[in-house]
Formats: sequence, structure tokens, C-alpha cells
Amino acid sequence: MADTPLTVIGAGVVGLAVAARLAPHARDLVLLDRRERHGTEQSARNSEVIHGGMYYPPGSWKARLCVEGNRQLYEFCARHDVPHRRIGKVITAVEDDELGPLEALLARGLANGVELRFLGPAEMARLEPHVRSVGALLSPNTGIVSAHGLMDALLAQARAAGAVTRFRSEVTALERTSAGWRVTVGRGATAESFTSEAVVNAAGLGSDEVAARAGIDVDAAGYRLHCCKGDYFAVVPRKAGLVQRLVYPVPGQVSLGVHAIVGLDGRLRFGPDVEYLEGRALRYDVDAGKRATFGEAVRRLVPAIADEDLTPDTAGIRAKLQRAGEPMRDFVIAEESARGLPGLVNLVGIESPGLTACLAIADEVARLLDVPS
Ligand SMILES: Cc1cc2nc3c(=O)[nH]c(=O)nc-3n(C[C@H](O)[C@H](O)[C@H](O)COP(=O)(O)OP(=O)(O)OC[C@H]3O[C@@H](n4cnc5c(N)ncnc54)[C@H](O)[C@@H]3O)c2cc1C
Repeated sequence: MADTPLTVIGAGVVGLAVAARLAPHARDLVLLDRRERHGTEQSARNSEVIHGGMYYPPGSWKARLCVEGNRQLYEFCARHDVPHRRIGKVITAVEDDELGPLEALLARGLANGVELRFLGPAEMARLEPHVRSVGALLSPNTGIVSAHGLMDALLAQARAAGAVTRFRSEVTALERTSAGWRVTVGRGATAESFTSEAVVNAAGLGSDEVAARAGIDVDAAGYRLHCCKGDYFAVVPRKAGLVQRLVYPVPGQVSLGVHAIVGLDGRLRFGPDVEYLEGRALRYDVDAGKRATFGEAVRRLVPAIADEDLTPDTAGIRAKLQRAGEPMRDFVIAEESARGLPGLVNLVGIESPGLTACLAIADEVARLLDVPS
């Protein structure tokens, strides 16, 4: 392979957004992925929600890039005909003791610059008559997007600006040399190397391994990832009209909680739950035995849905920096000159709201690499 000014490792939504943003400034940018095609891991297996940004601590990457990314994503989707809908979302308290945490969430959301409004039970009953509620928050700018439509548009934009894509190309070694980064793809007799002035590690569930291959002690750096599976169950079509908006519970410590997702195709699904996996063997089976547990979580929000109305659907795996039970960690977005690794940008732990934030993350990468806007 020819040498290049910039290599992006990973063609999920984040790597694609980075490639689309930087390709006009980096002739023959190379975008690599270990899979057969773009967007088959986290970016293909998520809730496809354009988040508002109320959950994250003010000032964090997650808060700032979600709020900015939300605005950018609606603009991008409108400009590039990516299917999306600004359907809005309610976060509902179902017991009186959840009203305090709901108010705290309202304050946090407003501090993050998110448009949010408190709804009393009467207004909720009018907007979402099938949803249990003693009070709720309405987020009008939360919406849904076709993740594949978005990724296809980003890939087309990157290619139109000259980006070169290489699939079935796992990055197996990264070495800093006097000429830049020596990037090795593949193993054994078929391994190939080329030099790249800068490298962006957007390898999702493999981003800690890529950072380690560049010589970083990922445990000392706090870059070690933990795979956290989330399953979804679908609701029978005749009950899909029970909710009009996305419906979320008041969040817990670990996740946003099993919530109702209205799809662009009109399907209603609930999920994802939280199941930490041992090791890195990615599996996407959905255990039908979880139906009763899901049913309980679902009926807390929408009592008219019975266990029999639920069927196992898809699953996704989140790249989390925190272990089970640990508090939320922020995204890692770092140019690594301080570690003696100039020109390497690591994007690690880009879990939710990474889909929403992808365009804003790409702008941040451009800033770190001194690329003009
Ligand atoms: C269950 C679930 C629900 C979610 N819901 C939402 C939501 O509603 N809204 C939202 O905003 N976000 C959501 N997210 C988060 C969002 O999906 C992710 O933040 C986003 O998809 C991350 O994109 P990525 O490009 O970083 O990672 P990925 O999409 O995982 O892409 C990384 C790519 O890197 C490649 N790769 C890995 N290692 C190597 C290597 N060594 N060499 C070459 N290629 C490599 C992989 O093959 C992969 O294609 C959810 C995530 C999950 C799992």
C-alpha cells in the first residue's frame, strides 16, 4: 500500500465521520476495517436514537459532543436525505420517589443546554395515554435516525473527497518511526505495511487493543474496555401504536434503563438490557428466557404489553470503560504527544451517545490534528 498522510482505523459511524471530515484535507486518506464492509459492529446494533444530552455531567465530552452532535446530525440528515424523524422522547417517573431524581435530571439537562420541559400526569395522559406516569420530562429534540443511511452517506462523502477504503484489513501493529507511523495490516505471509503521518484509532470494541499495539499500557492509561451486551425484544405489530414517542424510565447508575424505541419502520422495540461479557468473543444471540424479565421492565412503563407480545429481537455490544457497577466514564478523545506518540489520536470508550455525537467527535479530531474547519 502507498504511504498516506492520514489513516483512520475502524469504519463504524465514528471512523466514517472522521474520514468524511478529514478526507478533503488529507489526500488519499486511508480508512481501514477488519470486517467485510463498513458499519457492522456497535454502529449497526444500537437504538438509533439521536440523543438530547441530558444524562451526562456538564462539561464532559459526552454532554458537549452530544448536544453539538444532535444539532449537526439533524442538519446533516436533512442535507443528505438520511432517513430520520424528530419524534421526541419522554422520561417518565412511575413512582413518587422518582420525582426527585427526575428533577435533578431536568436541572442537569438544562445546564447542558438541552431543551426540556416538565410534564404533569394530566399532560402526560394526553400525550402518551398508555404510559404510566406521575410526572415526566419531554425532550422535543430527541429523535431517530437510520444508522445505515447515515453511514452510507458518510462513506460516500469520504470517497468523493478521495478517501481510500480497505476492508478485511485488521491493523495488527503500529510503530512510531522517524517518518511517522508504520501501520501493519494482516498477519504472517500476507501482512502488509505502509507509513502514515497521523493515525486515528476509531476501532470501537477493538480500540484498546489498537492503543496497546501502538505501545500504550492500556491499564495504566485507563483505556481497558469491557464488552457490555444489550438485548432487545420486539412488540407485536398490533400493539406498536401504544406509544408515539421514545419512552424512557428514570435512569439508574449503570444504564439509561430498558426503554421503548419507535423505529423508522413503525416497529416498537424495548431494550437494551445490561449483560457484561467475559473476554472479547462477540455474540449476538438473544435469550428467549429473558422474556419475563423484559416483560416486567416493559410493563413498568406500558402496562398494556404482555409477555406474549414480546419476541427476541437483536443485540448489540457496548464498548465500556467502566466495569459492572462502576460509575460512568467519559469518552477518551486524546492526541498522544504527551506519551511520546505524536500524530496518534485515540478514540476509546465511544459508547452511547457516540452515534449522536459522531460529527462533533470528528470536529474534535480535526482540531487535535490542526486541520482547518
Ligand atoms: C446496544 C447499543 C445501543 C446504543 N444506542 C445508541 C443510541 O441510541 N444513540 C447513540 O447515540 N448511540 C448509541 N449507542 C452507541 C453507538 O452505537 C456507538 O457509540 C457508535 O456506534 C460507536 O461507533 P464506532 O465507530 O466508534 O464503533 P463501531 O461501530 O464498533 O466501529 C468500529 C470499527 O472498528 C473496526 N475494528 C476494530 N478493531 C480493528 C482493527 N484492529 N483493525 C481494523 N478495524 C478494526 C471494527 O470492525 C468496527 O467496524 C449504542 C450502542 C449499543 C451497543
